[in-house]
Amino acid sequence: MTWLDLPADHPFGITNLPYGVFSTPGSEPRVGTRIGDHVLDLGACAEKAGMESYAVWQQPSLNAFLGLGRPAWTSAREWLVEALTNPAMRDCVEPYLLAAADVTMHLPIEVADYVDFYASEQHATNVGRIFRPDSEPLTPNWKHLPIGYHGRAGTVVVSGTDVVRPSGQRKPPTESEPVFGPSVRLDIEAELGFIVGGATQLGSPVSVAAADDHLFGVVLLNDWSARDIQAWEYVPLGPFLGKSFTTTISPWVVTTEALRSARVPLPGQTNPTPLPYLQGEATDDGAGTAYGLDITYEVEWNGTVVSRPPYSSLYWSPAQMLAHMTVNGATLRNGDLFGSGTISGAEKEQRGSFLELSWSGQEPVTLDDGSERTFLEDGDTVVLRATAPGPDGTTISLGECVGTIRPAR
Ligand code: MN
Repeated sequence: MTWLDLPADHPFGITNLPYGVFSTPGSEPRVGTRIGDHVLDLGACAEKAGMESYAVWQQPSLNAFLGLGRPAWTSAREWLVEALTNPAMRDCVEPYLLAAADVTMHLPIEVADYVDFYASEQHATNVGRIFRPDSEPLTPNWKHLPIGYHGRAGTVVVSGTDVVRPSGQRKPPTESEPVFGPSVRLDIEAELGFIVGGATQLGSPVSVAAADDHLFGVVLLNDWSARDIQAWEYVPLGPFLGKSFTTTISPWVVTTEALRSARVPLPGQTNPTPLPYLQGEATDDGAGTAYGLDITYEVEWNGTVVSRPPYSSLYWSPAQMLAHMTVNGATLRNGDLFGSGTISGAEKEQRGSFLELSWSGQEPVTLDDGSERTFLEDGDTVVLRATAPGPDGTTISLGECVGTIRPAR
């Protein structure tokens, strides 16, 4: 165990070790890891310890580290565990531990390309019923490919950044012409975000089995969505201004390695069986290379937990999403981010958007203070939290993803 005075069940224990970018007053943002209630200044510590590639951690984003690829990520984690468990390294490491409460967290990556998927069958079914009540809820392509769209990388922000209510066109059902103004149906989407590294060459697809070489880690992601703008604009090319105003991610990137014990088989893909390029291979842990993740969310609205979406219910694996995203030869860049799509389980209290929770505004949600909500009001705060099982009975925290709504400008 670690030489740090740390309870064995701490959600940022030695089995977690997420990466993020932090600063202290008067210092430049740089890479750190979270251990217990501390942040380790990785670049300074690694330089002192004589580690060769310390300079990638003295950058204001994880992108340089992401560019080193899987073998370097694995050896960095081994070094980090050694540094925090070997008592002989304590004197070298301890001076670089800072109180987590004293640091400011920044966006962990310079976001390269951003894609958002739609991988939850229950979410896609609910949205289909709400947006297209006269058709089949799932489109004919849904179980053949992970549906996605390219989003706006430049408006991805770190947890804690205010969300300004977007204005745009919407067409109220009672009107014959569209109107312009602040969105009146502002919503959340509770998602998992995947951080990609190990850039690829144009024209070189990445298989499902090789996807883990590029899946560095995960963050919590809130894909804020203006449903009224979205409903009017999305036909026939998909989401645009109803999504691109802000996307919030959590500051700590929990690595794929830390989530090894959270791998679970997918709920099932037999009817239909996906095309061969989307099929994974068997692995020793039984979850396959197309795996799911046992991550449980909490969605808190102004202090009331209104939903607990289970990530394990998602139809498509992150490895399948990555393989599909590159099957046409599109490159991966260091710092790419892709979202899973809203996570919704089968039960009402597992829905990952307020569109679904309030069934398009028809069934208001009552908060603990007695107030009722359908969509977000100015001043409302939403917190996403999530945990996953770690090795040896430990719990891995994914931290928090927070945003507060400010009035339209
Ligand atoms: Mn989304």
